[in-house]
Amino acid sequence: MQIMLCAISNIASGNCSEDCKYCTQSAYVKTDIHKYRRKEISQIVLEAKIAKKNEALGFCLVTAGLGLDDEKLEYVCEAARAVKKEVPDLLLIACNGIANVEQLKELKKAGIFSYNHNLETSKEFFPQICTTHTWESRFQTNLNAKEAGLMLCCGGIYGMGESFEDRISFRKSLQELQPFSSPINFFIANDNLNLKVPKLDVDEALKIISDTKEALPQTVIMVAGGREVVLGKRQYEIFKAGASAIVIGDYLTTKGEEPSRDIVELKKMGFTFASECH
Ligand code: SF4
Repeated sequence: MQIMLCAISNIASGNCSEDCKYCTQSAYVKTDIHKYRRKEISQIVLEAKIAKKNEALGFCLVTAGLGLDDEKLEYVCEAARAVKKEVPDLLLIACNGIANVEQLKELKKAGIFSYNHNLETSKEFFPQICTTHTWESRFQTNLNAKEAGLMLCCGGIYGMGESFEDRISFRKSLQELQPFSSPINFFIANDNLNLKVPKLDVDEALKIISDTKEALPQTVIMVAGGREVVLGKRQYEIFKAGASAIVIGDYLTTKGEEPSRDIVELKKMGFTFASECH
């Protein structure tokens, strides 16, 4: 089986105006995360080279914040062009919040392949998780990305206290969007966050993956944040459950598995790594 590896670069971190309860980048939360307005372009290119060395096919440029303004858009485009020039065979993903069609077309012109904007959870549960923007604005951005001719990467977070019905409703919305790839994150508790919920059970997490694959058979199901913390020793069972992609290395604000360990383990299990997108 071939799996796709993606790496993330948090190119603008923290101080976000929004109040998403699961996120330590929110200005509503007191945290000790590293905050910066811009990562040096040379550093982003270096990270892209490391990602390539670690067998990644996707490389995601993430900015904290509600969405894009002209300055941020230009910065993401500059980063994309620089990475494309130095590491041309990486597929670039941008994750920059709410965006309109024109902005997304600019990203595409700069070499972005896919736009990541998660719905995060169901329409019904979202107001309990965030009050500063709407679920509908997230859905619309996904439609905008499609209209701009970008591939779509859209998923969310499980284990925030949502009900079984919420999970079904969330997946129905994903079915409407039919994303190319869908990241599944598992919520990780943090002392600084007000969201206090028990950690998901391993079997429940694996069931979420198989239910998602069943709902989205054409979509690449990617397991992202929470893989190590929630699944622990059983983390590589995700592929049997229906996942065919993972995020390697560190996440936005939390440590991930050492890429080298993932690569060794996955090779031992007979997996190969995708070098192009089908
Ligand atoms: S908009 Fe994004 S960066 Fe800001 S708090 Fe929400 S999830 Fe975090």
